[in-house]
Formats: sequence, C-alpha cells, structure tokens
Amino acid sequence: MPAPLNRVDTTPELPSTADVVVIGGGIVGVFAAYYLTRRGLKVALVEKGLIGAEQSSRNWGWCRQQNRDARELPMSTKSLELWERFATETGEDTGFRRCGLFYLSNSDEELSGWARWRDFARSVGVTTHMLSSAEATERGRATGASWKGGVFSPTDGTADPASAAPAVARAILKLGGTVHQSCAARGIEIEGGRLSGVVTEHGTIRTKIAILAGGAWASSFCRQLGIRFPQASIRSSILSVSPGASSLPDALHTSAVSVTRRRDGGHTLAISGRARVDPTPQQFRFARQFLPMFARRWRSLAPGGLEGFRSGHESLARWRLDKPTPMERMRILDPTVDEATIALTHARALELLPALKKTAISATWAGYIDSTPDGVPGIGEIATLPGFILAAGFSGHGFGIGPGAGHLIADIVTGDEPIVDPMPYHPDRFGGSAWGKVADF
Ligand SMILES: Cc1cc2nc3c(=O)[nH]c(=O)nc-3n(C[C@H](O)[C@H](O)[C@H](O)COP(=O)(O)OP(=O)(O)OC[C@H]3O[C@@H](n4cnc5c(N)ncnc54)[C@H](O)[C@@H]3O)c2cc1C
Repeated sequence: MPAPLNRVDTTPELPSTADVVVIGGGIVGVFAAYYLTRRGLKVALVEKGLIGAEQSSRNWGWCRQQNRDARELPMSTKSLELWERFATETGEDTGFRRCGLFYLSNSDEELSGWARWRDFARSVGVTTHMLSSAEATERGRATGASWKGGVFSPTDGTADPASAAPAVARAILKLGGTVHQSCAARGIEIEGGRLSGVVTEHGTIRTKIAILAGGAWASSFCRQLGIRFPQASIRSSILSVSPGASSLPDALHTSAVSVTRRRDGGHTLAISGRARVDPTPQQFRFARQFLPMFARRWRSLAPGGLEGFRSGHESLARWRLDKPTPMERMRILDPTVDEATIALTHARALELLPALKKTAISATWAGYIDSTPDGVPGIGEIATLPGFILAAGFSGHGFGIGPGAGHLIADIVTGDEPIVDPMPYHPDRFGGSAWGKVADF
C-alpha cells in the first residue's frame, strides 16, 4: 500500500486569466495559493497529479525548530504559529498538534551538538530542554532501556501528511481560488521581457505571475527557461504500522530509528538520513556543487538504480509546449521502495520499542527528497524573468515550514512586509537575481 492521502475536488473549468498561477500542489504550493487567495487575488493552482501526492504526503510529519539551520529557524518558528492559526482561520484540519519532539542518545558527541544548538536557540528565544540521563530514561521508558541523555522541544509538533495539503487546498476552494489536478504546467509565455502566461496541458492561463513550487521537478522546468537551479534528489523509503502501541511518545528520534504517531493511532517508522542515490542526468550536471553534501552524508547514502533516469523528474530534455511532457508521463512520482531499508527499519523499531510488536505493517512507500547544495530552499523572484517566482529545494525539511514558505511567497508577490527575512532563501545565491515587490494589485 502506498502513502495514505486524502482526496480533494478539482475545479472543472481552467480559467483563462488569473492574478497568480501556482504550479505544484505540494505543501508549499498550497500554502502560497492559500495566502494569496486570502488577500483577495484570483489564484489558480495547477497540479500535474493529485494534491499532496509527492513528497508532501510521504514524509514523517515533523514540524520542528529543533536542530534547524539558523537560516531556517525564523521561518520554522513562524510556521508553527501559522499551522495553528490555519485551523482556526479555516476550520480545516491538517492534523497539526504541538506534541513536542523527543530525541534520545547514548552518544556524547551527539548530545554536545544538541546542547550547542540549545544554547543558540535560547539566544533567539526558542525553548528546548536538554534531558539528563535520568530524565531521558524516564521519558523514554517505552524503550525499556537507559539513556545517556536527550532533548525535548515542547513547542514543536507534527501534522498529518495525508491530510495537510488536501486540507489547505479545500480552504483555497472555499475562498474562491481554483484547484486543477491532472493539469501539468508545460511552460510559460513571455511578453516584453516578463512573464505573461502559463501554458498547461489543458490550455493557457494569462497571468503576470507564476510561482513554481514543483518540488523535485523544479530544476528541469527552470532549465526550459534558461534558469540554472542546482537541485538533486535522493530516494528515502519508510513504512507505517497499524494502531495498537498506545504507550509510545508522539514523536521520537534516535540514531537507529525514528517513530511518529499517525493520526489513525498507527506509527510511521523511518531511519533518519538513510536514502539511495539514483543517478540522473541532472545529478551529473550539478555534481560539483553537490559533492560536499554527498561527501558529508556518504555513510547514510547508498547507490540506487536507473529509476531516476526513467522517472524523468531530473531529465535534461527540452520539451515542446504543444506535446505531452515528462510531467504528464509521470503524474505521481512514486519510486520503488527499498525493501532492505524497510526490513532494517522495522527490525530496529521493534527492538527499540517492544510495544510495536503488537502492530502490523500497514503501508510502505518511498519518496524523492529534493535538495539544494546548501540544504536551504530557493525562494524568490528570478531577476532575468520578472513575474517568475521559484520556491523549491526544501531539502528534506519543507513540510514543517510549508506555511511560512507559502506566507513569504505571498508577501513577495503583494509587496507586504515579509514574514521573515527573505534574503537567506533567495535563489540569487545559485547565480544572480534580485528580490523585490513583484506586482501592483
Ligand atoms: C520520506 C520523507 C520524509 C520527510 N520527513 C519530513 C519531515 O518530517 N518534516 C519536514 O518538514 N519535511 C520532511 N520531508 C520533506 C518534505 O516532505 C518536503 O520538503 C516537502 O513536502 C516539499 O514540499 P513541496 O511542495 O516543495 O514539494 P512536493 O510535495 O513534492 O510537491 C510538488 C508538487 O508539484 C507538482 N508538480 C511538479 N511539476 C509540476 C508541473 N510542471 N505542473 C504541475 N504540477 C507540478 C508535483 O506533482 C508535486 O505534487 C520528508 C520527505 C520525505 C520524502
């Protein structure tokens, strides 16, 4: 069984015009479309497959400040507020709860790293508690083991990957925005040096602004437009188990395995960082930039197969706008599960948390995680193509910051005070562009 996903209605008619077209209905695209629709703009969201069906329904659901890169921490803190506010604003349920995230370790090195992060976090007003051995062992009693220490971050939480993006898409529909599934954007039209339309498989939408929130497909789309966006993805395989182990922490990380309670009372099991690298033409193109990241992570990465070539998301092909593109041939990127990782993850989880022996595997799935070379997303307008805003490369932690990223994108479009400093995210750092207000409304 693949990753669970709730379904959303599609708007039957594609509009001929829109103030903004959002390309990609993952968590980033839906939140961008939501905040723009709330500001009274006419927004069309186009998704080549189903809302949330790629990375945004395949993740663990962690919405964390804990151990965040300093550049992403402000967005992460704001996002936690926005997750909560979204439920009260819309009545829609993403499954978000501030349940706290819990980390256990027997490694002095890891514990010192967490303590350093705690000190930094305190300096920017984020609370996280280092746990002594006795506290960690008590809080981690479900493991039946004693621990050197741990961390508990009480203001962090989880949302439900199966519900979140669909819930936001429903909110867009309620506000009068339109949502078009099975509708790939093939490219854009340009007039007078700026964006003037988005060409989809079902027709062209005239607009001055397009947001590319295409996840793992963003770089190959940018390539059609002469924009160089270094992006590479790795394949991560995880599983869920049925309800039945009620006494476990809501969200627990150890270096061996991580366990997250799901909305149905079951759990998601995963090994942090472990993934396969399926070579693609795009990876060769950007190899020099990604080498340092892959070198740092080589212990948890293993070579994959030719699937990356076949699936087309990192193709270097040029496509025409009047013919089906790679996006229409691969509506939902649903990569092969690495069975060895699933077996290892399950075995480690049963060893760590004996209560899981009462449960059965309910689903296994894999997802391609798209990254930038510095592990921080690229968000901002591309200076050489006014009206075109990139928002991709969320590097394995985009689900939790989806609301903040969506809000920032809306701020960029409308020229409102940005919710966080946009500069650390600007795609300029990959090669030349400028941030500014995009259009007058
Ligand atoms: C196994 C796993 C575990 C993870 N765990 C976590 C976690 O616990 N916490 C966390 O914060 N993050 C986590 N992540 C990362 C997180 O899921 C992603 O960073 C986030 O979902 C990215 O959202 P997105 O909207 O950018 O991309 P996606 O969710 O991939 O959405 C992009 C969408 O764009 C569509 N699209 C692409 N091109 C086009 C086009 N031309 N026309 C129309 N549609 C198009 C695609 O079909 C897709 O639906 C995890 C990821 C995985 C795979």
